[in-house]
Amino acid sequence: MALMTPEQYEESLRKMNLKVYLLGELVKSPVDHPIIRPSMNSVKMTYALAQTPEHEDLMTAKSHLTGEKINRFCHLHQSTDDLMKKVKMQRLLGQKTASCFQRCVGMDAINAVDSVTFEMDQKLGTQYHERFIHFLKMMQAQDLTVDGAMTDPKGDRSLPPSKQTDPDLYMRVVEKRKDGIVVRGAKAHQTGAVNSHWVLVMPTIAMTKDDADYALSFVAPADAEGISYIYGRQSCDTRKLEGGEIDVGNHRFGGHEALIIFDDLFVPWKNVFMCGEYEFSGLLVERFAGYHRQSYGGCKVGVGDVLIGAAALAADYNGASKASHIKDKLIEMIHLNETLFSCGIACSAQGHKTASGTYLIDLLLANVCKQNITRFPYEIARIAEDIAGGLMVTMASEKDLRHPEIGKLVEKYFKGIASVPTENRCRVLRLVENITLGTAAVGYRTESMHGAGSPQAQRIMISRQGNLEQKKKLAKEIAGIKD
Ligand code: SF4
Ligand code: FE
Repeated sequence: MALMTPEQYEESLRKMNLKVYLLGELVKSPVDHPIIRPSMNSVKMTYALAQTPEHEDLMTAKSHLTGEKINRFCHLHQSTDDLMKKVKMQRLLGQKTASCFQRCVGMDAINAVDSVTFEMDQKLGTQYHERFIHFLKMMQAQDLTVDGAMTDPKGDRSLPPSKQTDPDLYMRVVEKRKDGIVVRGAKAHQTGAVNSHWVLVMPTIAMTKDDADYALSFVAPADAEGISYIYGRQSCDTRKLEGGEIDVGNHRFGGHEALIIFDDLFVPWKNVFMCGEYEFSGLLVERFAGYHRQSYGGCKVGVGDVLIGAAALAADYNGASKASHIKDKLIEMIHLNETLFSCGIACSAQGHKTASGTYLIDLLLANVCKQNITRFPYEIARIAEDIAGGLMVTMASEKDLRHPEIGKLVEKYFKGIASVPTENRCRVLRLVENITLGTAAVGYRTESMHGAGSPQAQRIMISRQGNLEQKKKLAKEIAGIKD
């Protein structure tokens, strides 16, 4: 079964025994929890679209290991064409879910771990790559969703892992045994953690010899004994408990993040991909972050498409769409959104082959892509709010709209143009609210800022990759300066 159906995916999650805490309670069945379920639906879409002939080319790939058709989320990029298809697939899924569909972190993690373990083995004579490939074959054959887990809680940012007052603020090995290792710590902001079958842990920063216990990469089943989850709150999340459709803005789809806690988890050696090789920690971070910075040039653009559409509809529904400034604002939104897409495509087109054969994006362009992502979605959201008008945050609830008495008043006074039912206007304004201020704003706004690394992390990479010396040489040449 190289491709799971969406139903099989849901069933596979049901069979797992995840320990998830949400709003102070242990969740019995995460799949059925009204706050969690929309996020599961988004991941489910990655399985559903892979079944359709229309999207087969983007959503699936041929495994370079087995020749089998697999979901692209389980694929190692074999060409720049694969890298570009990845971005296009993410845009498509952003359009279909208007949310974070979560499965990319695992795809980005396997691609980074593949090339880094290969190079590590070449240099140090370790045997991590073979173990990793063994895991990857299973992931591809079973069409698994994997949480690529990088970000540690990090405590005092001025101190390295080994100097923290609490040594668990970075993931670490607490015991090395003959049969495996025991690890302790946590991973924060873990996208899609609760909808994943396995978790692939990576180190969070470049490390030195003193931090060798923290240079750690491994995989574990998401429901392994010793792993638990604390589900992250999102703005307006409890609206999902009200049972309606309109007020949540997007009642079918969502995303989620969670804190994953590893409480003396045992990991057999076959599932360990780095343990103490601190010199390779920074490289793994750089590559994973690079791939995820490329990813945003797809997923955020797809969500942006929905937001632009919603803003245009809001203008249609209140009769403002013919105003020249509205037209111009929509053009500006499209311009910004397509600029982001261009960055995602450009860093993919300029990618290159690594020693393991897996393709890596152009890191400078991927970082430029993400740096723009820290800005443009905010501007797109600002314009969307401008066009939508204040009603998107002052509007009465769905219950008022449906109320036997006051419903008529809501209908009457929230009406835009005569031909459009008030309910449609409410729906589209709530969608704008959801993406810019509600549950989806986690993915569209704050994650655009901090996901895949905060803006300063990209600026460091841009300064490293920007080749200023070569630019000075060019200037000297043109200016006729001879040193
Ligand atoms: Fe994928 Fe985007 Fe969500 Fe990251 S933020 S997991 S790239 S959808
Ligand atoms: Fe992310």
